[in-house]
Amino acid sequence: MNLQEDPHRRYPPLAGEWVLVSPHRAKRPWQGRTEHSTAELGPSYDPSCYLCPGNCRAGGIKNPDYQETFVFLNDFSALLPDVAGGKIDEGGLFRAKSERGICKVVCFSPRHDLTIALMDVSAIRGVVDVWEKEYRLLGEESYINYVQIFKNRGLMMGCSNPHPHGQIWSTETVPELPSKEKEMQGDYLSKKGSCLLCDYLKEEESRGERVVISNDSFTALVPFWAVWPFEVLVLPRRHVSSIAELGDSEKNDLASLIKRLGTRFDNLFFTHFPYSMGLHQKPTEEKVVRIFSEAFGTTVEVELSSLEARDGETGSSSVLGEGNCRLLSSKRIQYRGIFSLREQRGGDGLRSQLLRFF
Ligand SMILES: [Zn+2]
Ligand SMILES: [Zn+2]
Repeated sequence: MNLQEDPHRRYPPLAGEWVLVSPHRAKRPWQGRTEHSTAELGPSYDPSCYLCPGNCRAGGIKNPDYQETFVFLNDFSALLPDVAGGKIDEGGLFRAKSERGICKVVCFSPRHDLTIALMDVSAIRGVVDVWEKEYRLLGEESYINYVQIFKNRGLMMGCSNPHPHGQIWSTETVPELPSKEKEMQGDYLSKKGSCLLCDYLKEEESRGERVVISNDSFTALVPFWAVWPFEVLVLPRRHVSSIAELGDSEKNDLASLIKRLGTRFDNLFFTHFPYSMGLHQKPTEEKVVRIFSEAFGTTVEVELSSLEARDGETGSSSVLGEGNCRLLSSKRIQYRGIFSLREQRGGDGLRSQLLRFF
């Protein structure tokens, strides 16, 4: 079987469900929608933005004149702390359960016109510190058992405001995906006596072919079972179960790696790349943050789902971002929206294209 050419299935050991990989489909002509590059980020302060310092949000609440990061309860929270408990089950066909939770918004910077790729590593470190603090604080709530930290960027990914920000949804129930990942890692541990993610990372680092970038504490790689065209998995290089276990230099390394990844994705298409990013961590249900706890490894998944590269003609290069970015060739890449994600699963052609550009 030729993994670069032949349709096949791959097994994601974290999700436990086979995915279809169709590398040959990357070669088909595209006649669908093409998105145009927009490198505009607007002014550094937007009087109409509800996230900018000093501006009013829904209900007349005024943001403070914050200088670094700013966290507030989502004015339109998907989850609420005070919900009447209960469940419905009518013949197994109509089932529902109450769910409590807390939703927060994290402004990464007072500047309206920045992205992670454009922020200083020290400012991104400030965001990492907020993530850690909120993971601890929310996790300590008696009814909160999971803390989801994520960020969507770009209109294409459903993010309605370009101001750099992310969200934290904390819930009573451990959501399906991390719950499955915990189960799969637990199974692996009981069968093999070692950690699934640590074993996987060791194997990928020795093979080298899917590693994108790395530093002392973290490695970013395109997982063998990637579902999205530009999916990247960021793994800590030692066994860590949550952001609360990271040391000072590790948090700096995470901030630095996120910046380098963001810069490279922006440079790939010469645009502010739309993406969805989330931290998969240990559930907080035990209410104790244990160092080197057993099975649950931490991953940061960057699922860059909307775009697919396509060879373009030679054009002039432009550079977005600063600092760590390595200049790309002057090859211009067109990009296009992908809306039928199932058809786009995997594809080593795309993967190697991505790796080539880092
Ligand atoms: Zn703003
Ligand atoms: Zn591990």
